[in-house]
Amino acid sequence: MARTLVTGISGQDGSYLGELLLERGDEVIGMVREAPEDARERLIPELREVELVHGDLAGPESLRQVIATVKPERIYHLAAPTFVPASWTDPAGSLHDVAGATFTLLNAVEQEVPQARVFLASSAEVFGDCGESPQHERTPTFPRSPYGIGKLAALRAAHVWRSRGLHVSAGILFNHESPRRPERFLPRKVTKGAARVATGLLDELEVGDRRAIRDWSHARDLMAGAILAVEHDVPDDYVFASGHGHSVGELIDLAFRLCGLEAEEHVRVNPAFVRDPEATAPVGDPSKAQRVLGWLPEFTFDQVIAEMVEHDLALARGEADAPNAPPAG
Ligand code: NAP
Repeated sequence: MARTLVTGISGQDGSYLGELLLERGDEVIGMVREAPEDARERLIPELREVELVHGDLAGPESLRQVIATVKPERIYHLAAPTFVPASWTDPAGSLHDVAGATFTLLNAVEQEVPQARVFLASSAEVFGDCGESPQHERTPTFPRSPYGIGKLAALRAAHVWRSRGLHVSAGILFNHESPRRPERFLPRKVTKGAARVATGLLDELEVGDRRAIRDWSHARDLMAGAILAVEHDVPDDYVFASGHGHSVGELIDLAFRLCGLEAEEHVRVNPAFVRDPEATAPVGDPSKAQRVLGWLPEFTFDQVIAEMVEHDLALARGEADAPNAPPAG
């Protein structure tokens, strides 16, 4: 039973990781940015009893305080401002919260709990325009956003503090989804949109470029990988990905088909949502995680989307059946 700190416990990944750690019998302490009593209600029911501590990525002193008072044996650093386009609104602030906070955290670990094991959530966004696909741990990095630069700096920080003797592992995480993913991310927008069209709550779904490729996994699978990385005796970097690229068009067609609909009759491309196409398809090569850690994801792409559609259909049917249901629009 390890005393385990999870930053970002209120997020998608934190919720699955928290569940997996409790199943292992670990003592879970979650870091939240507001007062713990306010955050508790936002957590999934399974996590509402865990100890919560206040810590804000924007406040280095609060992060140092968390490490000094909790004295964790394991630390999963998941917290970050995660919506990539938003990192253009305040690039320096984004860099601080993604990378600067990681430096502060590792520095505090070195001073307070140097025997602790740490997992850092980096991102496939570090690869950007690297020109190689699929991408592995030694693929060159060319991030295309302030968020990507921050995640690259966090990845390099893992290497620096590892060379100083800390047990720091980093996950280079490709896209991962679930019914707990917020709607501002495309897959959830699509599954929720398809479910709402199928139940008469929405007339049509507006999307951007159908050609963009992503490598989508289930968040629970990736968090199982994070635990394997931390429990492995040698700290290292691992790509966690499905290894398969799927287009946005495939995602849309599948979600609508699972709702019994033809996507082309209900989906409209809005040019305002179309982003510059990536020069390099972001597809990961997870063979190192599979070989070294024995990591094997449970969910296929179709299963991830099916779980999300099923969840969103149940929500939409509840809403459509409720008295005073809004008209479609
Ligand atoms: P998420 O659902 O957006 O969760 C982010 C978490 O970070 C939330 O708990 C959020 O707290 C917390 N947070 C944000 N700003 C904070 C601040 N200033 N101080 C303290 N906490 C703060 O993201 P996720 O999908 O779980 O992602 C987990 C990690 O994996 C992130 O580091 C992300 O960058 C990385 N990652 C994710 C993906 C993916 O496809 N999901 C891909 C690559 C990398 P609130 O609830 O208060 O907002």
